[in-house]
Amino acid sequence: MTFRRLSDLPLAGKRVLIRADLNVPQDEAGNITEDTRIRASLPGIEHALAAGAAVMVTSHLGRPTEGKLEPADSLAPVAKRLAEMLKRPVPLVQNWVDGGFKVAPGEVVMLENCRVNKGEKKNDETLAKKMAALCDVYVNDAFGTAHRAEATTHGLARFAPVACAGPLMAAELDALGRALGKPARPLVAIVAGSKVSTKLTILKSLAAKVDQLIVGGGIANTFMLAAGLRIGKSLAEPALVDEAQAIMDAMAARGAQVPLPTDVVVANDLSALARANRIAATEVSPDDMILDIGPQTAQVLASLLAKAGTIVWNGPVGVFEYDQFAGGTRVIAQAIAGSKAFSIAGGGDTLAAIAKFGITDKVSYISTGGGAFLEFLEGRKLPAVEVLEQRAKT
Ligand code: ADP
Ligand code: MG
Repeated sequence: MTFRRLSDLPLAGKRVLIRADLNVPQDEAGNITEDTRIRASLPGIEHALAAGAAVMVTSHLGRPTEGKLEPADSLAPVAKRLAEMLKRPVPLVQNWVDGGFKVAPGEVVMLENCRVNKGEKKNDETLAKKMAALCDVYVNDAFGTAHRAEATTHGLARFAPVACAGPLMAAELDALGRALGKPARPLVAIVAGSKVSTKLTILKSLAAKVDQLIVGGGIANTFMLAAGLRIGKSLAEPALVDEAQAIMDAMAARGAQVPLPTDVVVANDLSALARANRIAATEVSPDDMILDIGPQTAQVLASLLAKAGTIVWNGPVGVFEYDQFAGGTRVIAQAIAGSKAFSIAGGGDTLAAIAKFGITDKVSYISTGGGAFLEFLEGRKLPAVEVLEQRAKT
């Protein structure tokens, strides 16, 4: 992937417009409950300020109706928090699309919630051109919205004089490119979680690239069905058994593997108090629900991870929210933490598992991309990234 980087551009005296992802969670009174995204956006903003740029920052917040700004949709609390972090004023500018506001070199303003602007979602050209006229350099630092072609993520990049990636976006693309572009082999992917249907495209796309595809959770149950194993009352999607079989066949044909569980942890109900039993994968009875991989399987997978050159992880291999079904995911997490491989991980519940098992610092790169991360794994071109690549040539 070739794109311009903010860090490579001369910025002194330039008007720099940064599209960040400052979509932070808020409580009912509008207080910010978690400010990771604001903190993560600081390096790009601080770099532009230190380089002498006149900085404008915008972001979406929530899901406002285009054309009207409700008080709850305002970036005002975000501007206030950003000002505290930067230790300098961050005035909030409303109705900014047509300009008419001032920002001097070395200063920063926040431009009100960009999803309030009419035409944002539809990537309206007129809107994008007006926004592009406000800046000399457009910076996309919002990987989390890279799978959406909207006016601030795509159109603005087309029409701004210069378009580049901010440090967060660049780090994300570098990590994903390293994992899936020219990976150190063997490349091992773990695709787990509840359903094959939500991850079928990821499974197919990764199946064509990886040396080992580790499946877990409800996804593994569907693969076990395909392999002729009985799975009792476990979560599975019988309608997708043929797809699972096709994936295993295609991988076997090129000498790659989908290791299936040899032992599992089962219970008769799914609750905090459920009694867990470890049994062989061939001994699942009609009343059993498979809720985790067994310790023997976990050890086999851990040794594959120990030998990996690159690891891509999405999805917990068991119902890790309950301790009696968390063992498999813990072993996988610790194997990734201990591996010398370049590792990336992403997905809402996967991040929760990483936090729960305390391995945050030991994963090479943790994607905060959510939907954009999953679409990247699907092998899709992200529109906001594609346009940055095109603009790198002009
Ligand atoms: P992510 O958000 O990381 O992409 P998913 O949303 O696909 O992951 O899946 C996570 C959920 O899958 C967790 O809530 C977990 O409890 C559930 N899960 C994992 N294994 C099983 C299983 N064997 N049976 C039912 N649910 C499972
Ligand atoms: Mg999830």
